[in-house]
Amino acid sequence: MPGDGLRDTKIMIVGEAPGEEEDRQGLPFVGRSGQFLDQMLEIAGLDRTTVFITNTVKHRPPENRAPKASEIKVCKELWLDKQIEILKPKLIIMLGAVALKTLTKETAVEKLHGKFIEKNNQKYFVTYHPSAALRYPVNRKRMEDDFRKLKKILKETL
Ligand code: URA
Repeated sequence: MPGDGLRDTKIMIVGEAPGEEEDRQGLPFVGRSGQFLDQMLEIAGLDRTTVFITNTVKHRPPENRAPKASEIKVCKELWLDKQIEILKPKLIIMLGAVALKTLTKETAVEKLHGKFIEKNNQKYFVTYHPSAALRYPVNRKRMEDDFRKLKKILKETL
């Protein structure tokens, strides 16, 4: 499942890996996490038709297990790096720890959420994964705040 969205976009969103519904439809974030992501995008004044959404790992790990380091490495080299190279997004929004670590080598979502990171001439925004927000109300609130902040910054810079 390579991803979905606008070819000519300033914003790319990177999650973890497709879930069951995503696997069935061949589209990213179309299940429960996706509905939540849509709400977050709306807070930031965005929607799916104006961004490109993809995942760190392009296939569904069996039984919803966490993606293995080897899977992440292969998918990054064969897909994600190339997608970034082609789309040249001004900003990459990383949803959760897997995207954060894969793209920036940072590990602390708790510390970095709501912040921008610049690395190798690429700008990133850190926030939680929707499933972490759906599981814990405190993260939901933080994620809403992150997207409010994002809206402000987008207005000023993109
Ligand atoms: N979780 C993800 O990380 N990606 C999806 O596409 C769906 C759920």
